[in-house]
Amino acid sequence: MKPPPFDYARADSVDEAVSLLAHHRGGAKLLAGGQSLVPMLNFRLLHPALLVDVNRISGLAGIEERNGALRIGALTRHRQIEVSRAVGDHFPVLRTAVRHVAHLAIRNRGTLGGSLAHADPAAELPMMALLLDAKIEISGPNGPRRLEAREFFRSALTTALDDAEMVTGVELPLLPPATGWGFEEVARRAGDFALAAAAATLTLAAGGKVAEARLAIMGAHEFPLRIAAAEARLAGEAPCSGALGAAAKAAREAVEPDDDLHASADLRRHLVEVLARRALESAARRARELAAQVTGGRAP
Ligand SMILES: Cc1cc2nc3c(=O)[nH]c(=O)nc-3n(C[C@H](O)[C@H](O)[C@H](O)COP(=O)(O)OP(=O)(O)OC[C@H]3O[C@@H](n4cnc5c(N)ncnc54)[C@H](O)[C@@H]3O)c2cc1C
Repeated sequence: MKPPPFDYARADSVDEAVSLLAHHRGGAKLLAGGQSLVPMLNFRLLHPALLVDVNRISGLAGIEERNGALRIGALTRHRQIEVSRAVGDHFPVLRTAVRHVAHLAIRNRGTLGGSLAHADPAAELPMMALLLDAKIEISGPNGPRRLEAREFFRSALTTALDDAEMVTGVELPLLPPATGWGFEEVARRAGDFALAAAAATLTLAAGGKVAEARLAIMGAHEFPLRIAAAEARLAGEAPCSGALGAAAKAAREAVEPDDDLHASADLRRHLVEVLARRALESAARRARELAAQVTGGRAP
């Protein structure tokens, strides 16, 4: 299929991109990696009058540690996240998740900002933004603003972005020491969009009780979800198999999947519970190992 006709402009700055979006109110689309936009054009699901190419905006890509957080620019490619030493050191859960995004050729082009703005309910990076309490940096005609990831995703392919706004980056607050993590995904074939996935972090306090648990789910709801009931169930508890299993059940109860060509709603609910339990178990195991390193080999 071929795309409908459109005009093309290359923006050299965020201000220029935003002013082109504002000028064409709703009729212009940003072009980043093109890995979701171009297929949508080819399927004639979108008919923008203008594509605003942001690929040459300097300073929009990059990964930098500052003020207790990792900042990742919107134009950073999935592959750059995958191979980044800072990401591997601070957020191994993110490095693992990004390896599940499509295939290498797509990861070489696709960008963090494009993935967040596209907001596919089965995409890994929106779920990771939620899990890691990302602050999403946005620029628009009224200047910059920041949104918590949990305020950003509204429904399938819909975010809190206004037509004339763009994502410029995200800030991920560093996790406390002794935080374990887990990531689990099921897809029909390697590189396919997930049927469902779960990601967790678990921080242990002295004494081995859970100081903080986070659990995020995607693929089984119209947008990625943090499972507050599961997190509350684990806080202050020893991460034993009963507590982890109860938290995973809470995840199953929180999602509202639909039947579709790829899987029934029942299958997705089942996957959510199984994947959530496995992700939490991995997170608990890693948290115990990290805590034991701090206490000189004794389990906390
Ligand atoms: C075969 C195939 C398999 C895939 N599998 C997966 C998968 O398993 N998991 C997964 O997560 N993704 C998958 N993807 C999608 C891929 O990750 C995309 O790269 C990503 O979703 C969009 O990033 P992009 O930079 O290509 O955005 P684009 O395609 O350029 O843009 C996507 C949308 O975001 C908007 N946009 C882009 N940048 C910004 C910005 N900075 N601010 C605001 N709006 C912006 C565009 O206007 C457009 O509406 C797959 C894609 C393909 C083609």
